[in-house]
Amino acid sequence: MKDASLAIDVGATKVSVGLVARDGEVIVKKEISSKVSSQDELNDSLAAVIAEICHRDGVNIFGAGIGSAGPIDNVAGTINPVNISHWQDFSLVDFVRSVSGIQFVRIIGDASALAYAEFMLGAGRGATNLLGVVVSTGIGGGAVLNGKFHIGRTGNAGFIGHIVVAQGGDLCECGQRGCVEAYASGTNMAKDFGVDGFEEVAEAARIGNLRAIASVEKGAAFMALGLLNAVALMDLDTIVVGGGVMSADDVYWPILQKHFEKEMSALNFPGTVALKKATLGKDSGLVGAGLVGFTQGRERG
Ligand SMILES: [Zn+2]
Repeated sequence: MKDASLAIDVGATKVSVGLVARDGEVIVKKEISSKVSSQDELNDSLAAVIAEICHRDGVNIFGAGIGSAGPIDNVAGTINPVNISHWQDFSLVDFVRSVSGIQFVRIIGDASALAYAEFMLGAGRGATNLLGVVVSTGIGGGAVLNGKFHIGRTGNAGFIGHIVVAQGGDLCECGQRGCVEAYASGTNMAKDFGVDGFEEVAEAARIGNLRAIASVEKGAAFMALGLLNAVALMDLDTIVVGGGVMSADDVYWPILQKHFEKEMSALNFPGTVALKKATLGKDSGLVGAGLVGFTQGRERG
């Protein structure tokens, strides 16, 4: 028998469900679309895939972990993912408990899940004070402080996309003005260039399109400002960056590094802060969710 945790990763357009071993191995993984016509349809397909996955021979399921697009409420166990209209104020923790029969179900933010997975098994191994950042459709983050996973009061610590870096700046999806996300998300870098997705910006930048490069420069500069603020606030030693934009890291990474180094040179803290690429790939959120499913009886944050 192999120890496993039921892992659920709620993204913008799909929900991944899997079993994750203690060493981070994804034993099985299935995906369902969240772009369906009703809450019943979404809940039925999630219940079916959970039942299928939990009735697998040779595994001993310890608990369940959920990583969800934010904001979440980890006390109430509810989610409010911006892109899934059927799951507003939805009690996903209770739902998973009732359909799986698993009593220990813990929920964290999707970016916290990436941060936790990278801290335990990926680019953040050995770090003591780490921020994991997801640069994608939106921007999320999660923190490890003094070697412990730090989720905050409601589970949203590290919500770096919505710290304000431009007073009275551009309007953000969240309703606030001047957030990091309003400039630095893949979506908003694409919007600045006048296209739909970041991959199109990256392609244009690769062939030397100066407007495309300027859009990436602008986004990365605001991202670096957000990272500077995080370092100043938490005295970090490591930042790990993942998310969809990093699939064009040949374009994005050198530009982000340049702006980060520029910002950091003005901060007179001793020592350097390591800026690293996430190494666990597209399953990192699922793996992180799975790992928190093993944390019953341990510190809760
Ligand atoms: Zn915002």
